[in-house]
Amino acid sequence: MSLLQQEVSVLAGVGPHTLHRLKKLELYTLFDLLLHLPIRYEDRTRLCPINTLEVGQSSLVCGRVEQVSVIPSARKILVCHINDGTGVLALKFLNFSPSQRKLLENATWLQCFGEARLGYGGLDSTLEMMHPEFVLRTEHDAHKTENTLTPIYPCTEGLNQRLLRRIIAQALKMCDLQLVDYLPNNFLQKFNYPTFRDALLQIHAPQGSENKLAFTRLAHEELIVHYLSMRSAKMHAKRFQSPVFTSKKTKVKAFLATLPFSLTKAQLRVIDEIQVDCAKPEPMLRLLQGDVGSGKTLVAAVTALVAIKNGYQVALMVPTELLAEQHCRNFTNWFLEFDIRILFLTGQLKGKARVEGLKALAVGQIDLVIGTHALFQEQVQFKKLGLTIIDEQHRFGVHQRLALRDKGRHQTRKGDELYPHQLVMTATPIPRTLAMMNYADLDVSIIDELPPNRTPVITRVISAQRREEVIAKIDEWVRRTYQAYWVCTLIEDSEVMQGEAAIATSELLTQALPNVRVGLVHGRMKAAEKEKVMSAFKAHELDLLVATTVIEVGVDVPNAALMVIENPERLGLSQLHQLRGRVGRGQIESYCLLLYSSLPEMAKERLTIMRESNDGFVIAEKDLEIRGAGEVLGTRQKGQLRFKTVVFPRDEYLIESIQEIGDKLVDRIPQNIPLLINRWLMNTESYVDV
Ligand code: ADP
Ligand code: MG
Repeated sequence: MSLLQQEVSVLAGVGPHTLHRLKKLELYTLFDLLLHLPIRYEDRTRLCPINTLEVGQSSLVCGRVEQVSVIPSARKILVCHINDGTGVLALKFLNFSPSQRKLLENATWLQCFGEARLGYGGLDSTLEMMHPEFVLRTEHDAHKTENTLTPIYPCTEGLNQRLLRRIIAQALKMCDLQLVDYLPNNFLQKFNYPTFRDALLQIHAPQGSENKLAFTRLAHEELIVHYLSMRSAKMHAKRFQSPVFTSKKTKVKAFLATLPFSLTKAQLRVIDEIQVDCAKPEPMLRLLQGDVGSGKTLVAAVTALVAIKNGYQVALMVPTELLAEQHCRNFTNWFLEFDIRILFLTGQLKGKARVEGLKALAVGQIDLVIGTHALFQEQVQFKKLGLTIIDEQHRFGVHQRLALRDKGRHQTRKGDELYPHQLVMTATPIPRTLAMMNYADLDVSIIDELPPNRTPVITRVISAQRREEVIAKIDEWVRRTYQAYWVCTLIEDSEVMQGEAAIATSELLTQALPNVRVGLVHGRMKAAEKEKVMSAFKAHELDLLVATTVIEVGVDVPNAALMVIENPERLGLSQLHQLRGRVGRGQIESYCLLLYSSLPEMAKERLTIMRESNDGFVIAEKDLEIRGAGEVLGTRQKGQLRFKTVVFPRDEYLIESIQEIGDKLVDRIPQNIPLLINRWLMNTESYVDV
């Protein structure tokens, strides 16, 4: 193990208390400490004459101690006057200790750092500093200053800057020899970057002024490493063996003939791309992107059918129970005549039914399992998993994807190890640059066409003050035998609060609309209850469905062509687009009413985009422009991407170059790639063990 990966406890002065606090900052190793970057600097390299001090600015001052006294007010204040020949400064301390008082009384010279302000709330012309940091000086060393800027680090309670500075400096010294460059010189030269070692020194102890390039250099390296690790995960996976599926053309034809429509050109094209992959003896790793409603589920169904008819099991994983239920219903209908045994596996499947279901899966009596995260659980065993499909991939992390792959690993009779093919699907088109970050380990297929006869959703941005009108509109809508959604949102990502808001709204709407059959779904309802409401809505036994954002993904009821979204300003554009994708699925002219309660300028701009575009890609680009990659990735890729030194949007522009640089490194200095990956990702959750 490299010194950089040593635990922080190897440092002098890091006992259990400090260790605990460092943990809070997620600083575990020496490398973590080196990458704990300052948020700003203080300049203690120059002494500031007292008569040039500026109110509100922090400065370093040195003066002879003139007088130490205690002001006998309700809260005693210790006051120490210092004089540097240009003026007098009062240093004030509340809650002082007797020893502090003694210290100051015995002092001759003091050097202190703090923010200058006017005394007595501005009444006194003498400047003062409250609780400045100070050190005792003598006549000889009174004018000694720091050689470097003083870094100020993100901190936590009980861990002061001085201690943090000391241990980071110690770590730097200790690791000095390890701070070699794994990136080639010409890369550094091209961008004018300092070496790795110099960058760290310039960051933690800058001489003169702050060097922004040092920060950028680290971020750039980290992004490249991220790309390289995804890339090597892909290369690695491609070395495995996978079952070879023959195309089963007649079965597929028979299946497509049962559908009331024909597939779009784009659907047929991506089905072909997938079949080519699955016919190879290496694992497919394919991302299927397609806007909401573009018909990805059928592509999944065809792919599953082929795998099953080749004698393999298929696992379909989705992020919510609601979606799992819906898929289960669809696949059961679609596969009715194809002799396919389906298991529905979520956290709700309990007791005997669960035991039996799992057993059937393990012995190969199940062909297709559809479920949520529950599929990860240890008890879930497959006999012969040949294909995993992950729907709404943006809700899962890379690691969940890999975990599911590993689950499917199995031995053939000849003793070869086989990995399942993987198809991951997402309706959240992410801009190309970000796709590169997230899906560098996948091949991409895109459905760029919607089924015919879809009418674009008409979106209106309406003030909540016109709520009554909107409610009246629903009444009229339902009289025309159509159905509608009413979506309640809240800032808090709390299912409890969202649920409550939805309950209140459904009560209110039930009262206001006596002729309308109102249903309610929210995240905290039991799966069975949700299922009941959803099927009632689907069967048109309900006219209006009040819901939280749980219906964001996948729900499909073509007769529901009106959606009201409350507080749309609280959601990201892509999320709004996903929600809106629930309508506009049939022949009826569809509407989406964005019912805002307050609209700051920026939110207005965002909602205007919703009104103007129905294209998920355009919306995603705009979303990125307005909110920045950090936000966009943050909400989409929960917990997935965590960078140590990369800051969005500051470093976004760097993403553009990483693929080219990364690929070049693989060509020219392949021996350095594992070193880089080890340095940055070892012991972290993004570490892909290859
Ligand atoms: P998404 O890509 O958002 O997952 P779905 O697969 O849920 O979209 O498809 C949306 C709706 O469009 C479903 O009702 C599906 O049956 C229907 N659909 C899919 N493909 C076609 C097609 N080629 N023609 C007409 N309707 C289609
Ligand atoms: Mg879908």
